[in-house]
Amino acid sequence: MFIGHFGVGLAAKSAAKQASLGTLFLASQFIDLLWPTFLLLGVESVKIVPGATKLIPLEFVYYPFSHSLLAVAAWSVLFGAIYFAVRRAVLPAVICGGLVASHWALDALTHQPDLPLTLGGSSRIGLGLWNYPALAIGLELLIFVGGLFLYLRTTKSSDRVGSIGLWSLVAFLAVVYGGNIFGPPPPSVNAIAWTSQAQWLLVAWGFWIDRHRELRVV
Ligand SMILES: [Zn+2]
Repeated sequence: MFIGHFGVGLAAKSAAKQASLGTLFLASQFIDLLWPTFLLLGVESVKIVPGATKLIPLEFVYYPFSHSLLAVAAWSVLFGAIYFAVRRAVLPAVICGGLVASHWALDALTHQPDLPLTLGGSSRIGLGLWNYPALAIGLELLIFVGGLFLYLRTTKSSDRVGSIGLWSLVAFLAVVYGGNIFGPPPPSVNAIAWTSQAQWLLVAWGFWIDRHRELRVV
């Protein structure tokens, strides 16, 4: 799942109004932001296998530090705790922690049974929706559009940048998502790792948008 995680981040703004969209993106995509660094360090591994699933040609061989249930629970608590330490606000801290965990839950729907429960054990979870492209894409678009709707209901642009920044992000995510689905398989694991690192720019983009939008008064 890709834009679905950003959809959840957008949606969370309606519940965690003080948190910047950048922070919410950072939380909802956190374990996918750790993953490329673990790949580049050789701590985790992935294989490009055309046909691995109908939608995504990847075999997630080993990624317990970013994507095991146990590690995600720890990242989630850590993220929430750091947010609380910096901002001193309980609700957004809890929501940010929940966003980190939401990533795993959504991945569990789309991935094949490759998500580990613990760091060393052999149990793997995954419902495998990536083998049912219409369902997987439909679900992801639904989450993204729903999240965008909630975000637009919660905030309005305070200047042109707030509107242009948001809609260009939506267009950019749509193009990248389309490329992931309909484009050729990635040329190498290194290419996957470096393009995934570029997702940090999306977090920065979220912070930038948030500074040019304000909460709607209800
Ligand atoms: Zn993931």
